[in-house]
Amino acid sequence: MINVSKLKEGIVIDHIRAGHGYKIFLQLGLDALDDVVVLMRNVESTKMGRKDLIKIETNLDLNLDVLGLIDPDVTITYVKEGKCVQKIKLSPPKTVTGILSCKNPRCITNQEHISDVRFHLVDAKTNLYACEYCDARTRL
Ligand SMILES: [Zn+2]
Repeated sequence: MINVSKLKEGIVIDHIRAGHGYKIFLQLGLDALDDVVVLMRNVESTKMGRKDLIKIETNLDLNLDVLGLIDPDVTITYVKEGKCVQKIKLSPPKTVTGILSCKNPRCITNQEHISDVRFHLVDAKTNLYACEYCDARTRL
């Protein structure tokens, strides 16, 4: 059995909205890691009812933009030598480049296969972003 409650070295992503854990897991590329990664789903939470949680037994550079896009309410804790060294609260990034793609099929970015399209945050509550070319709204 792997002891998932005690983490010596690594990162805990907590307070993930139930159902978003797997999406975050994939978007961060955690399936490609050789280190131990634990994805817990539908964990009981007094604050949220149910939540997802991810423990990564290594210190890596998380793409905070991706996390902020999917679920800005998560809490990230970095653990070093069994101690929490840093807790981060996220907010949705104001602009993102290269992560989102435009959902409008007539948008020039889809016609011309433009990558690295920039999107601007238009609604922080619903995590809605606008395409810089056609202003179509999208979310991850
Ligand atoms: Zn567009």
